[in-house]
Amino acid sequence: MEVKMEKITKIFPSRDKKDKAEVVAVNDFSFEVPDGSLVCLLGPSGCGKSTLLYMICGLETPTSGRINFGEQDVTDLPAEKRGVGLVFQNYALYPHLTVRQNIKFPLENLKGEERPTKEEMDKRALEAAKLVQIDGLMDRKPGQMSGGQQQRVAIARALVKMPKVLLMDEPLSNLDARLRLQTREEIRRIQRETGITTIFVTHDQEEAMSISDMIVVMKDGVLHQTGKPQEVYDNPVNLFVAKFLGTPAINVFEGKVKNENLYIGEEAVLEVKGVEDKDVWVGIRPEGFDPDENGRFTCKMQGIDVMGRDISVVCRNMASKEVIRAIVSAENDVKASSMEVKFNIKPHKTFLFDKTTEERIRF
Ligand code: ATP
Repeated sequence: MEVKMEKITKIFPSRDKKDKAEVVAVNDFSFEVPDGSLVCLLGPSGCGKSTLLYMICGLETPTSGRINFGEQDVTDLPAEKRGVGLVFQNYALYPHLTVRQNIKFPLENLKGEERPTKEEMDKRALEAAKLVQIDGLMDRKPGQMSGGQQQRVAIARALVKMPKVLLMDEPLSNLDARLRLQTREEIRRIQRETGITTIFVTHDQEEAMSISDMIVVMKDGVLHQTGKPQEVYDNPVNLFVAKFLGTPAINVFEGKVKNENLYIGEEAVLEVKGVEDKDVWVGIRPEGFDPDENGRFTCKMQGIDVMGRDISVVCRNMASKEVIRAIVSAENDVKASSMEVKFNIKPHKTFLFDKTTEERIRF
């Protein structure tokens, strides 16, 4: 089921009695989630991603704009009529019910013709439990399970009604690092197996990059960029997106373009054909530095971490005085004992941004 959002705006009245300013949580947002895909809404806290998710599921109503599921306009349809499954950060399981009863709960609530028989309910609960691999724990209560297992129960409960769309709001936030990794792989597997169109909200770029078919990067209620994770990483449209994606983060410098050469401080570090003379922001990905004793980007060594295949070099660029982090192959002869390290800059890992608008300048 494809989900289409057309010019969605959500304005909340102020929560603060003194300050009457309204909050524009989502601003003129248009995007189409392709059928059967897993899309992440990604952005910093307060960017409006949860509000958008709640509008898709029917818990909030847009101030303006329309939402379609396939051909059907669902904007004014109540949540229970939309056929969505919801998974939140806190699993919100009923503590006094067993896993089986928790999973069956949404089916027990169905009325009339929609309500399956008891046998059918048990069968569907078991199928959903098998999918998330907790079918061996059906008689346990939530208090007797780990956080990861409880979140699986919550996912099974969302799947048992066979939703057209699965919506997940920071579902991994309450899990420790190891379980987070494991559970996100599980979510990806379940999504692939069921083919349910899934919209996943997170502020964690690594999480989003690792599981999504597409990411939607948001800030202040506005959509900044969409695309396949790697495409967005390789081709950020502005400085915000470039800084938001990537671990370690992109290195950012003040620079100047003069006669189609990029200068950082007094050093001309790269040829940038077709760019007019101006001050710019320069973003260089950590993997964009190539150690070379004749390189034009000179740094004072601060330390290195060997990470097996790669080396992480921390050094201070002499021209800009900025500390940078470079990730280079361990085959390079970079030593922590050296005073100085020089690099060539890889053009395809270097981005220029307008100093005022912070939009990308292509070269
Ligand atoms: P987080 O990751 O912190 O949950 P988010 O990106 O999901 O953030 P939202 O919860 O959608 O952001 O909030 C977007 C903006 O709308 C914020 O400024 C928030 O304070 C505001 N907001 C959300 N709900 C309401 C409400 N019911 N009344 C007033 N303002 C609200």
